[in-house]
Amino acid sequence: MDKYQQSHKDKLFKTSTHDPYCSQRVEGSAICSQCGAVYHAGNWTWSRPENTVAHAAKDTTCPACRRVADDMPAGTLTLSGSFLQKHRDEIIHLMEHTEKAEKAEHALERIIKLSDSADDLIVTTTGIHLANRLSHALESAFKGQSDYRYSADQYGVSIHWTRDE
Ligand SMILES: [Zn+2]
Repeated sequence: MDKYQQSHKDKLFKTSTHDPYCSQRVEGSAICSQCGAVYHAGNWTWSRPENTVAHAAKDTTCPACRRVADDMPAGTLTLSGSFLQKHRDEIIHLMEHTEKAEKAEHALERIIKLSDSADDLIVTTTGIHLANRLSHALESAFKGQSDYRYSADQYGVSIHWTRDE
């Protein structure tokens, strides 16, 4: 492996720590004015720690809400293949269920939207973990194949899941 490949590889493994939407500094504790997520001790969660004064400042918005407002996904999952056409409702139901579970644990992991592009279904997410979890859920429920591409110069992942039948 030469130097270029090594630095490329390093970047791939560092991407998850550099979300530009998480770089905004928040002092103390705060509540997102959009969704009610609570910022405390460096993390956004759904629960307010006891004995903590968190204020809903008008200008405080969590990274997930800002990504939704800007329509700037961190994860993009593209579904294709004839299996999708036949089982669309089941697939969407599985993804909604998976998002609910992930979002309950990680306040910043959310689906931004589902959209159609020709025969493909495109799902965008506010975090790369949810995109990964969705594709894993698809694989374990419906098999198929996933292809992962991590962005080398910015925080993001693009996943393509496909199954033909
Ligand atoms: Zn929010």
